[in-house]
Amino acid sequence: MSGPVEPGWRGAPGRSYLKEDRGEFLLCQETAAGDCTVYVPGKAPVEIAALPRPVYHWGTLGAYARLTSDVVSFTLAVNPGMDFAPGQFAVCAVPGVEGGRAYSMVNDSGQAETLEFVVKAKPGGKFSEWIFAANRDRTRVRVFGPLGRAVFRPEEDKNVLCIAGGSGIAGMISILARAHAAGYFAGHRGHVFFGVRTATDVFYLERLNDFAAASRGNLEITVALSEGDAPEGLKARYPALRFATGFVHAVAAAAMAGKYENVVAFVAGPPPMVDGALRMLIMEARLSAKDIRYDKFG
Ligand SMILES: Cc1cc2nc3c(=O)[nH]c(=O)nc-3n(C[C@H](O)[C@H](O)[C@H](O)COP(=O)(O)OP(=O)(O)OC[C@H]3O[C@@H](n4cnc5c(N)ncnc54)[C@H](O)[C@@H]3O)c2cc1C
Repeated sequence: MSGPVEPGWRGAPGRSYLKEDRGEFLLCQETAAGDCTVYVPGKAPVEIAALPRPVYHWGTLGAYARLTSDVVSFTLAVNPGMDFAPGQFAVCAVPGVEGGRAYSMVNDSGQAETLEFVVKAKPGGKFSEWIFAANRDRTRVRVFGPLGRAVFRPEEDKNVLCIAGGSGIAGMISILARAHAAGYFAGHRGHVFFGVRTATDVFYLERLNDFAAASRGNLEITVALSEGDAPEGLKARYPALRFATGFVHAVAAAAMAGKYENVVAFVAGPPPMVDGALRMLIMEARLSAKDIRYDKFG
């Protein structure tokens, strides 16, 4: 409402929606240059207000590993530790790359001193080029988090549907880790659909196979390949997983027909995949908005 602000990233896409003649500015980019009065219209729902508050952390990069030709994973040892809910993300800023980039935590939630991330290369992307150019272990990284409302809340007592494209599986692994640790699939159903292009693009199948195997049939995990069928060798290596051919949201739509009772759905991945899955969840599954949670990696 009043007070001095300094503009941040001038090219931020959100600026196109601003009415600057009405004094609007981009709250997520500007910096307060002195005392400001901020009016927040509306109320935060209780479950959102209960999420951990984001703060700045310093992190040290480690355990850098190539999972496929265009996917790397790494950890960040953070100080102070970060308390986060399953499905949340953090914004990481690295030396030489302007601005921060959002990455979803892969590991189990709670108070964590080590955060685990997975990054899929975006051709020509600044962070992608930086992280793929060399092993970046021991780099100091500025981290802000946790952020995000697409979180799993076991107390909601719902069956879980996850639809992920590529590195969108990151937050789903965190959700499954929490559910697994809480014995959630002893009393609930889970359906996970993980979409990649070909059999050479898969990663984290070991973990997914272990989650499915431990669930006594209540957690079904399907790997959907959009280009071609899964080789027999892959199926034999991960006997607790199912494999299908097609776009992940179409595979999910076919497998889920008639199974949407008491379901909360999580969707993450590239924008076209997320849009396809959302259309399906709204038009076909008829889930209510509060039961659809998503992160678009655009
Ligand atoms: C909630 C969320 C969670 C995500 N989780 C993951 C994940 O787990 N794994 C994964 O691989 N990807 C994830 N992404 C995508 C990720 O944040 C990056 O967009 C992606 O890695 C490409 O980054 P890049 O720097 O290589 O590409 P770029 O095209 O260089 O940058 C990507 C985006 O960063 C923003 N940006 C560019 N310049 C600036 C600047 N100067 N200041 C501020 N912002 C700028 C723009 O919005 C741009 O579209 C997530 C995205 C979101 C929104």
